[in-house]
Amino acid sequence: MARRRSVRDWVVLRPRAARRAFGALWLCLMLAGAAPCGAAAPPRHVLVLFENNRLLPGNVLRDRGITSALGEANRNTDVSTEFLDYPRFSGEAYVATVTRFLREKYAARPPDVIIVAGDNALDFALGARADLFPSVPIVHVGVARSFLASRTQLPPDVVGVPFEQDFAATIDQALKWHPRATRLVLITGTAGRDRVWEGEVRQLAARVEGRVSVEMLEGRPVDEVLRRVAELGPDAVVFTPGFFRDGAGNLFTPSESARLIAQASTAPVYGPFVSFLGTGVVGGWMASFEAMGREGGSIAGRLLGGEAPSALHLPSVMPSALYVDWRQIERWGIDPGAVPAGTVVQFRAPSFWQTYRTEAIAVVLAFLLQSLLMTALLVERNRRRLAQSSLDRHRFELAHASRLAVAGELTGSIAHEINQPLAAILSNAAAAEMLLQSGAARPGDLKDILADIRRDDLRASEVIRRLRALLAKHEVERQPFDLNETVSDVITLLNAEARRRRIVLGARTPAETITVVGDRIQVQQVLINLIMNAMDALADTPDEHRTVSLSLEGSHAGATIRVRDRGVGITAEHLPKLFDSFFTTKRKGIGLGLSIARTLVEAHGGTIAAESGPGDGATFTIWLPRAAPGSSAWVGAA
Ligand code: ADP
Repeated sequence: MARRRSVRDWVVLRPRAARRAFGALWLCLMLAGAAPCGAAAPPRHVLVLFENNRLLPGNVLRDRGITSALGEANRNTDVSTEFLDYPRFSGEAYVATVTRFLREKYAARPPDVIIVAGDNALDFALGARADLFPSVPIVHVGVARSFLASRTQLPPDVVGVPFEQDFAATIDQALKWHPRATRLVLITGTAGRDRVWEGEVRQLAARVEGRVSVEMLEGRPVDEVLRRVAELGPDAVVFTPGFFRDGAGNLFTPSESARLIAQASTAPVYGPFVSFLGTGVVGGWMASFEAMGREGGSIAGRLLGGEAPSALHLPSVMPSALYVDWRQIERWGIDPGAVPAGTVVQFRAPSFWQTYRTEAIAVVLAFLLQSLLMTALLVERNRRRLAQSSLDRHRFELAHASRLAVAGELTGSIAHEINQPLAAILSNAAAAEMLLQSGAARPGDLKDILADIRRDDLRASEVIRRLRALLAKHEVERQPFDLNETVSDVITLLNAEARRRRIVLGARTPAETITVVGDRIQVQQVLINLIMNAMDALADTPDEHRTVSLSLEGSHAGATIRVRDRGVGITAEHLPKLFDSFFTTKRKGIGLGLSIARTLVEAHGGTIAAESGPGDGATFTIWLPRAAPGSSAWVGAA
């Protein structure tokens, strides 16, 4: 039984045939977007005839409109474009030559629709129609309504939307914007079309004659035109449709001539064509060339699509609008408020806001954000200040409470310290009494006794004074004070306690006075705390080692106070936790003394540290800085 061949077998056995088949398939696929495979329709052909020069701005714009509209209507359209080059070339012979040329050129591929752009192109196509594709429909583009009106009825397959060449509206607008103008200058040329325009302009001149005096500059050499417009003043307004040929036979495009006139003129210049915008002309009522092209292209597209010319319901005229060059509005001081709504404004420099909108929004946002941030920071700073002052308050309260606690511990020794002079006073008083009773009292002895009483009294009151100073609740001070004196006050206060504990308490101070700025009582409190801790550490130490010694040294940078004992010392494990709040190794300890001490020392810009060698007791070192004299906190030798 014959085996059916697979595609793979076939490709292997007949590679050339397979290649050809795939090539055809690929071509079909490529053309599939345009037409069904195997029946690709040939493109429709549109011939566009422009009446004049290829590079005229108006032609460029119309061409753009035509091709874009045709492209939208039917993608498979082939457009051929020809330029009749009027008025450079004209006359019967020229027309006959061009007709023959076009007929022969497009004989093999005749157009399906002809688009004519401009009055003369329409004229040409109608005249040559019998010899040139007689049955092909014609679409006219950019033909003035006045031109159509002057012609006999068009055949039914010649269609299009004419534009209104509204010179009158442009001149009226110009006179409205320049109410003080007393002269209207009208400029035209000498070519055929120029003469048509001249006729229209003359009719308008008659219309405005009563309002302003009209000066016609028709068919003059361009040099004369430019000289005349340069001499005009602010009382004049110029209107020109431009010209193709001047009085000396020089050829121009209308927009070229308009540019020359506008540049030379000392009065504002108006014109009726969109292509004039940007040449220096203020503006005028115009139909857009591109819109004309689009209209023509879309009509041609509809005809190609099979619609009958008679079935097209077309508008009677192209809409026109007032076009202005905004730079000229500003240059001639025209009130922007007098520019009517719906005006097509060109060349308006975007405002600051339009140009920098994003940047401006970003700057404003950044500013707002910054202000917000600043406010938040201020609020935060205020909160921190409040928190700081409440913290200071608490520290102050705590320090005071800690002093009271120390005083509590010292009660016994202080009572002893006061009792001693009181007892001495008592016994001295008794001795004096006895002397007086015996009658043997000599004034010298009594004087000595009284001196002793006074000394003891002073001693007792001195203890009380120091105690009161320590315990009084006072505001924190920042005043210079004598550090030597502070050290000896502390020793005096704690002497009795040291004696009670059988401890030798001593201090070594330098001969020079060391002055520190700060709170004397706070520094005193720190020292008392360190000494009390040192005395606690000596509790189980043999008598020969029961010493606590203080030393004070001044240096260039500050002052150093050391409190040294030969007690139990501090283990390496405890050393780092020593200044933490509530760290204590004592049975009845609170663990706040050293933490408060560090806070107070640091508030003075100083440092506090502890060191301890095994079995060698502990040494606490306080360093207070020497600040510049005159600053709020300084340490100095005076
Ligand atoms: P407290 O005296 O209430 O315990 P402190 O903050 O004054 O609180 O002291 C914390 C701890 O530091 C003490 O419990 C003790 O263990 C240790 N300490 C302080 N000074 C000395 C010292 N001179 N020798 C040994 N240990 C000390």
